[in-house]
Amino acid sequence: MWSLQGWNMIFRRNLNDWEIPRMIELFKLLESFQGIQTGEDYLWWHEHKKRRYKVKEGFKQTSLGENQDFKWPWKQIWRVKVPQKVACLTWLLANEAVLTLDNVAKRGISLYNICSLCGKDTETVKHLFLHCNFTDQLWQIFLNLRGISWSMPSKIDETLFNWEEAGVGATNRERWRMIPACIWWTIWREK
Ligand SMILES: [Zn+2]
Repeated sequence: MWSLQGWNMIFRRNLNDWEIPRMIELFKLLESFQGIQTGEDYLWWHEHKKRRYKVKEGFKQTSLGENQDFKWPWKQIWRVKVPQKVACLTWLLANEAVLTLDNVAKRGISLYNICSLCGKDTETVKHLFLHCNFTDQLWQIFLNLRGISWSMPSKIDETLFNWEEAGVGATNRERWRMIPACIWWTIWREK
């Protein structure tokens, strides 16, 4: 804490010899901050005007701050006219956090992993929701309606971006954007 006498540091243990020079450095650094007022410490979120932390700002900082290339399909997940629980499933899928059999196995439960729809391949998020023969038939219904040639991406987030792009010429883009979430919800219910 800072008082008019300077910094009042209380340590939980005594310093070792080799820590003293580092402590001097720290004091030098702290003393260089001028105009500090006496008072209790409090949390200060420097990215926000009013110094208050907001989840939205925190998300921006963590996702865009360090890596400008980071792309997350938030619009394709949350700006979709589907019930909240359906959007939540999309979000879980994009994070590969849905309890498909492979994810169940990762939690230490041993079971025979075979896709519950086709009975041929290993059940993973990517297989069940993107590449399984049964799932593919659902995708094809909508792709054929608009005569779109499509190769299924390997990831959920990529699928959302590509689907958005494929829907550029659609008469009703809001409806187009709902399709992946609806397909995934149907499959999840079916499973
Ligand atoms: Zn399958």
